[in-house]
Formats: sequence, structure tokens, C-alpha cells
Amino acid sequence: MERIVILGGGFGGLTVATELETLAASGKAKVTLVERNTHFRMGFNKQWVLDGRRRPDEGRRPYASLRARHAAFIRDAITAIDTGSRTVQLTSRRLEYDHLVVALGAELAPELVPGLSEGGYDLFDDAAIPRLKAAVEGMTEGTLLVAVASTPFKCPPAPYEYALLLDDMLRRRKVREAVRLLLTTPEPQPMPTAGKVVGAQIRALLEEHGIEFLTQYKPKAVDPTTRIVGYDNGAKIGYGILAAVPPHRAPKVVRDAGLTDASGFVPVELGTFRTSAPDVYAVGDVAAIKLPGGGPHPKAGVFAEAEALVVARALAAEVAGVEPTTYAGIGTCYVETGGGMAAPAEISLLDPSGPRARMESPSVAGLAAKEEFERERFGRWFGG
Ligand SMILES: Cc1cc2nc3c(=O)[nH]c(=O)nc-3n(C[C@H](O)[C@H](O)[C@H](O)COP(=O)(O)OP(=O)(O)OC[C@H]3O[C@@H](n4cnc5c(N)ncnc54)[C@H](O)[C@@H]3O)c2cc1C
Repeated sequence: MERIVILGGGFGGLTVATELETLAASGKAKVTLVERNTHFRMGFNKQWVLDGRRRPDEGRRPYASLRARHAAFIRDAITAIDTGSRTVQLTSRRLEYDHLVVALGAELAPELVPGLSEGGYDLFDDAAIPRLKAAVEGMTEGTLLVAVASTPFKCPPAPYEYALLLDDMLRRRKVREAVRLLLTTPEPQPMPTAGKVVGAQIRALLEEHGIEFLTQYKPKAVDPTTRIVGYDNGAKIGYGILAAVPPHRAPKVVRDAGLTDASGFVPVELGTFRTSAPDVYAVGDVAAIKLPGGGPHPKAGVFAEAEALVVARALAAEVAGVEPTTYAGIGTCYVETGGGMAAPAEISLLDPSGPRARMESPSVAGLAAKEEFERERFGRWFGG
């Protein structure tokens, strides 16, 4: 029986395990999913906790209720991957594989910017969000600085959404006029892969909400005592509250396995998601994928899922002869704009003339579609 081991129970790993359920049930393959956490939650849940739509203990699902009943679920930390001996070391045991899917996401590395951990709140860390919420709720004046530390980062619209949601929080408390809200990013424009039109739409939203916006600003160091961020371009910005998107890289266990390149992520072939190691695939945030024009493939749950589906079908085709599927590179994100609205943005990455994106106007229906996005995935992966 073929042994398929899936590392990581996020968007990518959950999709592979769910998609291989029929194969596992048929007895033709032993499917094992390894994840260190007890519960899954979506990235945007952090934003809903920040602005008070959810409590920190809401919006999660236990791996104990996985719908992929024929997959073995192991809750453990992965400590080593050896593609030579085709083994994975966990804290408690060693697993052998015939096919390995690495879906371990991105590791957050705030320590790569000196002072960032001490001086700022990490917008991508669940634990930091309630503390940031309390700080913003106590703010009556000064500068609230949202800073993107480096690229790539997961969810290209996330910093823009955060700035708009923070604006909304301050407006609700009627202190917005007294607070300077500022967003800096090393990017040349918002969501570069989505193109100039979507970039201009996001800029217009920021402007409409009085959010100052500076591009090609890469933080070099943060001084937590004086509360000043120093940038690569020599600029310095003082802040009362700093909320940052930290640097991202592949998790240490993946880097130690020799699977990464200079990008800090795992290079894979677009469409097959095969790594340079035999029978090892990488999907989602952990992967470095180049689009046909040479640009970077964006990191987002919706794409992790689409890539994982292709890999799962390729494995099912190899083991059981079922029909494989090709990667379309199409995904929709629901860009939160505050005020109970979101703007659906569809992007088609593999268009022959380059990535093509279209973003609708913000609407209440757009946010309802985002809520449905979550409900649908929870149902598909966990039932109920
Ligand atoms: C604020 C925010 C908002 C977002 N909004 C959206 C959105 O609206 N739409 C969208 O499509 N995407 C969104 N995203 C992005 C999305 O969350 C990620 O792109 C997606 O989770 C990537 O899936 P993945 O499977 O590659 O990795 P993850 O979902 O990160 O899964 C990786 C898993 O591996 C596990 N793991 C890592 N290391 C180990 C180890 N050593 N041992 C055991 N387990 C390990 C982790 O615990 C984790 O569960 C958002 C992200 C953020 C932060």
C-alpha cells in the first residue's frame, strides 16, 4: 500500500487529506496528516477578533472532527524531514513515506528586523491581536503605523484590510481625527501581482479613509524606546502604536531539510508543484512558485487549496488511475474595507498576457460572501 504523508493541516494539507478520502477508504493508500495544533482557524479570523466581531476562542475547528476519517491524523511537531531516506521525524515517532506533501505554511520571523518584536504588534500572530485591540481601544491621539516588513507575505491585501479596519475602529470611537493613520510597504504599489487598476482602487480606498500611504519603505530597525522606525531609504517615522506584517520564510524544519533556495521558500514547478526531491511536493505558503512571466505566485489560502487539489488528484491518478486535473491559477479574495463591507477581487494568474484581476466595489454582500467562504470550507473539511 502506498504511503502518502501530508505535513501541515492548513488550507493545503486539509485539501489534500479531504480530496484523498476516497483513495484512503479504498485501501489503496495509507494517508497520514501531521499537524502540531489541536484546532484550525482561518487567517482572517485575526481581523475579526481585532475589530470585535469575534472572541479569540471563536472561529476555529478541532482536527478531532476531520471529515477525512480514513486519513490517520497525528497531532505532533515535525522535527526533521529526510528526503534521502524518505522519512519524517516527529517528536514521538518516525514516519516513512512513498509520497510526501509539504504544506507547512510560512514561518513568521519578526526577529529579522531588530526591535520589531519589542516595539510592535504582529498583525499575523493570533496571540498579539487581543493586545493590539486593547492598545487601539485606549488610543486617543498620536500615530498608528501599519508597516509591512518585507515581501513576500501571505494574503496580499491583508495590510490594506488591516489599515481600513483600524480606521473603522477609531472612527467608531470618534477619535479618528486626532490619530494619524499611516501605512508603509516595501511594495511598489498595493497588491502588485493584481496589476495597476486594482492597485489604484486600493490607493483610492486608503485616500478616501484619510490613510497616508508610502511605498518602497522597508523597515531596517525599530527603536522600541524612542518609538521610531528607521527605513532602508533613510526615512524615520515615529509612532504611538506600531502594527506590523513581519518577514516570512519557510519553517526551520523545511530549511534544514535543504528544500529551500535563496528565496527562503521551496522552489516547485508551476502546475505539478513537485520539488527537486523525488516524490516530494510543496503547496501553499511554503512554496516559491514563479508565474510564466517570471513574477512571484501570490501566497493565499485560496491558492494553497487550488494547488493542493492538483497534487491530490495527481497522487490519486498515480495510485488508483483516476483522472488528474490541471492548475487553473484562479482565485477570489474578499478584501475587507471596514464598515461591514468587503470587495470581492478575482485574479487569474495564468492568463497568456499576464495576471488579470478585477475588484468589485465594497459591499455588504461581499462580506457575506467572505463569511460563506469560511462556512463552506469548515463544512467541507470538518462537517457540521
Ligand atoms: C490576516 C490574514 C488574513 C488572511 N485572509 C485570507 C483570505 O481572505 N483569503 C485567503 O485565501 N487567504 C487569506 N490569508 C492567507 C492564508 O491564511 C494562507 O495563505 C494559508 O493559510 C496558507 O495555507 P498553507 O496550507 O500553505 O499554510 P497554513 O494554513 O499556514 O498551514 C500550515 C500548517 O502547518 C503547521 N505546521 C507548521 N510547522 C509545523 C511543524 N513543525 N510541525 C507540525 N505542524 C506544523 C501549522 O500549525 C499550520 O497549521 C490570510 C492570512 C492572514 C494572516
